[in-house]
Amino acid sequence: MRVRFAPSPTGYLHIGGARTCLFNWLYARAQGGSFVLRIEDTDQARSKKEYLEEILFSLKWLGLDWDELHYQSQRFDIYRQVAQKLLDAGLAYKAEDGSGAVIFRMPQKTLEIDDMIHGKITFDTGLIKDQVLIKSDQSPTYNFACVVDDAAMQITHIIRGDDHISNTPKQVVLYEALGYPLPKFAHIPMILGAGGGRMSKRAGATAISEYRSMGFLSGALVNYLMLLGWSPGNNQEIIALKDAIAKFDIQDANKTAATFDMNKLLWLNSQYIKSCPIEELAELVKPFLKERNLISDNNFDGKYLEDVLQLFKERASTLAELSDAMAFFFVKDVAMDPAAAEKFFAQDLNAAFGALRSRFAQLSDFSPPRIEEDFRRTAAEMGLSTKQLIHPLRVALSGKTVGPGMFEMIATLGRDRTLERIERAIQ
Ligand code: GLU
Repeated sequence: MRVRFAPSPTGYLHIGGARTCLFNWLYARAQGGSFVLRIEDTDQARSKKEYLEEILFSLKWLGLDWDELHYQSQRFDIYRQVAQKLLDAGLAYKAEDGSGAVIFRMPQKTLEIDDMIHGKITFDTGLIKDQVLIKSDQSPTYNFACVVDDAAMQITHIIRGDDHISNTPKQVVLYEALGYPLPKFAHIPMILGAGGGRMSKRAGATAISEYRSMGFLSGALVNYLMLLGWSPGNNQEIIALKDAIAKFDIQDANKTAATFDMNKLLWLNSQYIKSCPIEELAELVKPFLKERNLISDNNFDGKYLEDVLQLFKERASTLAELSDAMAFFFVKDVAMDPAAAEKFFAQDLNAAFGALRSRFAQLSDFSPPRIEEDFRRTAAEMGLSTKQLIHPLRVALSGKTVGPGMFEMIATLGRDRTLERIERAIQ
């Protein structure tokens, strides 16, 4: 069997297109067939190199590799030849205006297709007007190029969004006119936005590459796309692409529209971040830290980054969020939240901070339990409750009032940074 994904490079790859591609890919891999990528770039005015590059990059990033790649812009001769055949057979005619456009004479009949998802669908082609095959600028129309190529590329199953159902009779009559064997059709239901309507930019209709920039892991995004209209069963929600292959069948795709749920995607992403091996997570987060000027290529401590990640990986839902949360570990001068500084430094803490500084400076084993011990001893000596000292210390070290466990945080920051930050907090 052979399937294809046929994007038009007139826009970026969005959630809907990526999901269509994924279902084609999964079905091909599950059946041991071929997955063809066909770029439908017949509209030369609207097709852009930038979109094409984004589509190819995003598919690779998602792990959806293709066995063949074709460009419709390189196949114009073929479409013209096939159009000529239809003209010769009297099944198509040229426009009277002398423009050179070729038009297909629509037969009047009832067509029934057996869709793999929707079941039987009947069409009355009498309601469809004659169809342009080749436009006056000699470029083919979508329906015509699609049929010529699906037949030439021996596509056996056409899996696409059900917004194409209305194109199906227009294509089936062309298969019949050209004597091509009819492929099977599987029209997958649309993805709705959070409010139930069309997917808008606000409701998730963002380019796949943008999800990457927002800090989604490709594994999490592809996992989420799988759940939009299919389920591996047993309420399983976390499933890797390679494990889904054995379970996937296009016939199990849902018949009703799926709704895009950003919170679910965020949750899945947090699960993927949590279970990502630390060295891998470090590689993934590096570009985000660089973008924030927190690290640079020549000034970089890999071990430190991994230790910091251990403190945060359990609670971030995106790499961007993770980077923001851990930023204070990498800045030279911590910016203190002004409200927190005002609240916690109302009382003079210079003596307590001074004592902490000398204790920490002398601590032979700079580990969380020893740090805690010294901290408590200092608080008691200064007549302060743990709370009275822990909050200001956290603000001094991190700039914030909340964060990871205090003593792990100090141990990870390391002695030099800790002393430096305490020093700066002494007024
Ligand atoms: N280029 C078409 C699209 O992007 C392909 C539709 C089809 O799969 O036939 O919608």
